[in-house]
This record gives sequence, structure tokens and C-alpha cells, in this order.
Amino acid sequence: MTESQTPPAAPDAAAAAFEQLPLSPAMLANLAQLGYRSMTPIQAASLPVALAGHDLIAQAKTGSGKTAAFALALLTRLEPRRFDLQAMVLCPTRELADQVAQEIRRLARAEENIKILTLCGGASMRPQIASLEHGAHIVVGTPGRIIDHLDRGSLQLDTLRTLVLDEADRMLDMGFYDDIAAIAQRCPKERQTLLFSATYPEGIGKLSQQFLRKPQQITVEAQH
Ligand code: ADP
Ligand code: MG
Repeated sequence: MTESQTPPAAPDAAAAAFEQLPLSPAMLANLAQLGYRSMTPIQAASLPVALAGHDLIAQAKTGSGKTAAFALALLTRLEPRRFDLQAMVLCPTRELADQVAQEIRRLARAEENIKILTLCGGASMRPQIASLEHGAHIVVGTPGRIIDHLDRGSLQLDTLRTLVLDEADRMLDMGFYDDIAAIAQRCPKERQTLLFSATYPEGIGKLSQQFLRKPQQITVEAQH
């Protein structure tokens, strides 16, 4: 092996390059355009695992870039030409669901037309039902409203391949355990489940035991 002429990059910088991941050139170009120069620690730790198809429990503080960690995983897994529902993200509130949908849209813009729907309470059902009739690749929503759509038959999950539980600690705080359980039970068994959380309360262990399959657990400690 010949010695490299260029000085080695700092190990941290090398470890955190998006280029190390099996992402499409279009996705890498889009990340650069968004100003995402390198992975955050939770992205560097969780993306290789998620992109390899494993279930995942990822814990890192608020603002550490957890959205892009699961968004890049689900977008890479997505088959845009199959126009059916392939990924669903559950969020605690409408505000967070809107933020997640917006981040997925930014990350998805380099890809083919990918249809993302948000389904949250506080908005009327009718337009959501009409949108669901047109179809979507990705649904982002709050558990209560997702259940409403499942119960009335306007949403089916049989083609789902990725289920994300975002801000799982907050969803448990808000009393969504049973709703999440009911939704997970209606997802195909063959799926990838990704759980993201800022903290690790007791309920998370129970949730993951019930609904995740051999999950890898990743924790990025807050820096002191
Ligand atoms: P969390 O869900 O962990 O609270 P977010 O996913 O909301 O954090 O990300 C926080 C902010 O960091 C967002 O504005 C997002 O666009 C930005 N961000 C995420 N990943 C990167 C990255 N690799 N480089 C630069 N900014 C990033
Ligand atoms: Mg978040």
C-alpha cells in the first residue's frame, strides 16, 4: 500500500462524513446543498445500523438531529415507483409532526416525486380522507388521528415497511402507549421499527420489547 500524499483528516471529521454511507449521489448532493456538512453524533451512530435494516432504539438530546437520522433511513428504503404507503412516523403533537414532515420533504427533494401526508388531530377528517384516497408514500401523524383513520378504513398499513416512533418519551408522557400498541399491531410483522427519544423512561423498554425486533440500542450522551 502506498502512503497517502494528503495529510489524514481529523478522525472525527472522517468518521462523520455522509459520503461513508450508502446514500445516492443525488441525496449526498442535496445534503451538501442543505448545509449538512457532516453527521451529528447520533446520525453517525444510528444511520449505519438503520440503513442495514436493523431495528433501533436511539436516544440523544433534543436538537441533535434525530429527524434526519430516521428520515435518511426511511427515504433510502423507499421505492418511489411503487406508489403505496411504505413508511409511517408517529409524533406526539401536530407541531412536531409538521416539523418532521417538513424535514423529510427537504431531504426528499433530490429523489423522485415522493408523496408525504400529515395526519393530525385538530384538522378536519374530510380533506385527510380525500388525500389518502390519492395515496402517499409516507404518512406523518399523531397516534390518535392515525387510529381514527385505521378505524374508519381510510388508512391501511399492509404495505408499510418502516415504522418510526419519534419523541417516544413524549408520546408515553402524553398517554399514547395503548394507541401506539394498537397501531403497531396493525403493521406488517416484516417491517423495520425505529424508535427515537430524548430520554429513556421505563415505558420505552416495554414498548421496544413488544414491538421492536432485536433492536440495537444507541445512546449519545449529552456533552458536558
Ligand atoms: P432532534 O429531533 O434531535 O431534536 P432535529 O432533527 O429537529 O433534532 O434537528 C435539529 C436541527 O439540526 C434541525 O434544524 C436540522 O435541520 C439540523 N440538522 C440535523 N442534522 C444536521 C447535520 N448533519 N448538519 C447540520 N444541521 C443538521
Ligand atoms: Mg425530534
